[in-house]
Amino acid sequence: MIKVAINGYGTIGKRVADAVRAQPDMEVLGVAKTRPNFEAETAIDKGFPLYAAIEEREDQFAAAGLDIAGPVAELVDAADIVVDATPSGIGAENKSLYEEYDTPALYQGGEDAALVDTSFNARSNFGDAVDADHVRVVSCNTTGLSRAIAPLREAFGVEKVRATLVRRGGDPGQTSRGPINDILPDPVTIPSHHGPDVETIFDDLDIDTLGMKVPATLMHMHSLNVTLEEAVDAAEVRDLFADESRLFLIPKHMSIDGSGKLKEYALDAGRPRGDIWENAVWEESISTVGRDLYLFQGIHQESDVVPENVDAIRAVTGSADAEESIQTTNEALGIGL
Ligand code: NAD
Repeated sequence: MIKVAINGYGTIGKRVADAVRAQPDMEVLGVAKTRPNFEAETAIDKGFPLYAAIEEREDQFAAAGLDIAGPVAELVDAADIVVDATPSGIGAENKSLYEEYDTPALYQGGEDAALVDTSFNARSNFGDAVDADHVRVVSCNTTGLSRAIAPLREAFGVEKVRATLVRRGGDPGQTSRGPINDILPDPVTIPSHHGPDVETIFDDLDIDTLGMKVPATLMHMHSLNVTLEEAVDAAEVRDLFADESRLFLIPKHMSIDGSGKLKEYALDAGRPRGDIWENAVWEESISTVGRDLYLFQGIHQESDVVPENVDAIRAVTGSADAEESIQTTNEALGIGL
């Protein structure tokens, strides 16, 4: 069993902990938190050993009646790998701790690509992370773009990608985020940082991205235009995508007209937290005009990176190849709507 430590138990960390626990070849050694909030309570309820991410704050947990297993350094020392799911920039501060104990680490998309040996998307570049010590699982948007681009490159060749990302203002729990009544070019400069981030996965890709932020919390929406190297019928793209386990093609008969019904469907389907681990591609939107492909896809920012973290654990520990890992992760989580 691969012993996994999770440092940072928020939106991403708590989901990764549940996903790791569901795997046949992994166990959660413990999770580390900075404060005794509601997520600390549920970590204890779920039976995850809780460690203090900041040693001086240990007594805050005791005052709240929560048992602490020890300081985070103890957890890092005992683990085979750490998943750092702390807020952007904190992962970089934690790197020296992981190095001190010689424990390999995964970081999240909020960290700089320069921090790590390689950035990671299971479908696109699993092999680059094999036996690496420091790996960054790319952001929700970069994950979503990479999953769509990888099969297109292999099947038809990609000349150029143009994507407009309509981004949720904040996650449902992020009460301080916005806008609450506006539509922002964000960033207003073009291209947005998302394109260069996708290039950390495919270094020879030509991609330009534009970003906007809107008053929504549920999901991001991508409007994608890919110029392929050959003229392709839309049906060929639909067939190609239908074979991709982490692309969910929303069929017309479902009458899912947006993120709201998508999330409702995920909840009805019994998904934990209503999570949608797959890219949700509107099948009807897949269109081609000569070599140009167009489509809309919804990206559930809180969860699409979760199976990617699980696969990155196997890559870094050298315990499975891409195909085997993706299949194991998919089966354990129930991926494939
Ligand atoms: P979050 O704020 O929901 O969770 C972070 C957790 O880390 C919180 O519980 C916080 O208390 C804790 N923390 C803060 N400082 C810490 C420290 N020094 N040691 C240990 N824990 C500490 O954030 P999140 O949304 O889960 O984001 C985490 C990372 O994942 C970021 O890099 C982010 O960019 C990336 N990411 C977020 C999303 C998303 O939409 N939420 C999607 C993909 C990637």
